[in-house]
Amino acid sequence: MTYDPNNVFAKILRGEIPCKKVYEDDYALAFHDINPQAPVHVLVIPKGEYVNMDDFTAHAPADLITGFFRAVGEVARQLELVEPGYRILANAGSHAGQEVPHLHIHIFGGRPLGPMLSR
Ligand code: AMP
Repeated sequence: MTYDPNNVFAKILRGEIPCKKVYEDDYALAFHDINPQAPVHVLVIPKGEYVNMDDFTAHAPADLITGFFRAVGEVARQLELVEPGYRILANAGSHAGQEVPHLHIHIFGGRPLGPMLSR
């Protein structure tokens, strides 16, 4: 799948549209989801043009992969989600219902999150 540089998260990364930023470093940007599904619902995106987890794990350089996943953990710590716990999720492709074609990891927390899949 070819990366679409006009996707909404690419525009957020370029500063063309706003976001409610919670964290940023050299590798990642994290911001609140515009339509939260839990009391805490934050998205973490890598600073690079990767469509989804398949693209990222196949093509991203090692320092970006490391930095991105460290950022996910750091965001969860900064949001004080480690206790009592949180969930991460990354949709890839149509069966997963991926809407935005720039890799993003959802971080959910703030309440008991129920079963892993809705059905
Ligand atoms: P997914 O279905 O995994 O691709 O999730 C896309 C997520 O992006 C959804 O949870 C949307 O609510 C969220 N979203 C879409 N546009 C924005 C935006 N401009 N700012 C923040 N979150 C957004």
